[in-house]
Amino acid sequence: MAVDGDGTDGGGGSQPPGNTAAEEEEEETEVRIQTLSQFPNNDHVSDDYEDLDLEYSSLVLKSLEKYLPMEMLTAERIVKYLFMSDVLEKYITRGDLTMDKNRKEYRQKIRSSYQPRFRELYTFDPKLFLLYSFRYAITANTEESFRRIIAEPFPGVFVFQMFQPDFFQKLIKEVENFRLWTFMKNFKIRKPTCKTIYGVVLDDFGLDFMLNKLMQEFIFPLCKVFFPDVCGEMFDSHHGYFVEYGENRNVAELGYQIDDSEITLNVCLSKQFEGGEICFRGTRCKKHAKTDAHPEEIFDYRQIPGQAILYRGCHRNGARATTSGYRTNMFLWCKSSLFREMQTYQKDFSDSCGQCSHEKKEKESQILAAKRKEMIRVEGEA
Ligand SMILES: [Zn+2]
Repeated sequence: MAVDGDGTDGGGGSQPPGNTAAEEEEEETEVRIQTLSQFPNNDHVSDDYEDLDLEYSSLVLKSLEKYLPMEMLTAERIVKYLFMSDVLEKYITRGDLTMDKNRKEYRQKIRSSYQPRFRELYTFDPKLFLLYSFRYAITANTEESFRRIIAEPFPGVFVFQMFQPDFFQKLIKEVENFRLWTFMKNFKIRKPTCKTIYGVVLDDFGLDFMLNKLMQEFIFPLCKVFFPDVCGEMFDSHHGYFVEYGENRNVAELGYQIDDSEITLNVCLSKQFEGGEICFRGTRCKKHAKTDAHPEEIFDYRQIPGQAILYRGCHRNGARATTSGYRTNMFLWCKSSLFREMQTYQKDFSDSCGQCSHEKKEKESQILAAKRKEMIRVEGEA
């Protein structure tokens, strides 16, 4: 089965010619058996995978196990693992297997010789770096406590303050330190996305532990409340990076994109800059990524220093040019293999593309208009 690197297309692969109807039916039956359940079986006690040297963490496997088809819940641990690794590989590794291997080697090389400047960033004590008000809201863990510190200036776009200023200063200096190190060692910096000219992947030089902790313990609880359809029981991987904008850096508008994430956390770290507004242009599936935005989907937001913005990865976004000063942003793409797997075989799992919804409504109103016309014609004839 061919799978795109972003894991959204599980279809691919042409059938060999001459399949009989019976064979096709058999294949369809096989596909049905292998799907996960739509809802987790919370009564099921998952196996522990900690003692096995596996590619995926025990935590991820334990969460995913609750979604296994009923007939597989009682299977041997290794059988369950093989099934789950098939699902996970589509979204975590198989799509990008070679790159993943190269990335591991690349990171190992950095970590064997790079000396961090602020070690406390890597271990990440929340009390040192997160605001008390934010920690308090997360501990309370209710929609009411979140709404007290979070604003929603546009549907699906949430803004809030979460970090202490010390975090920004240290992170900016740590990135400078890493850049200097790469320069001295003549080491190539990997670009975070194909559109980024001046940025670094934070995970590459050891900040992945910190970002994973941030995602699981502080961002996930918010997403469970504000994006309940998207993240389900867990996020299982992330991509964390840092981008600089302004003179001699990323200066131009880079166009609009949909992120390779279920949820994106975007934090503005700098104090003094002009421009750089973040522009939202409607949620889009891959098929409609380039279609025009409808007027009600257009939302431009002036970034506030220190503020975090949380939105769906499919919420098409871009940034205006930074016209003066210097702006830096930290991005955390939170990913869920489970959500992607569900999306591939459940058409109505989350119908979140603005254009798809628009076309669906248009079609419905056309059908309604045709029915009305027909009724009027019949009444007229009577
Ligand atoms: Zn669409």
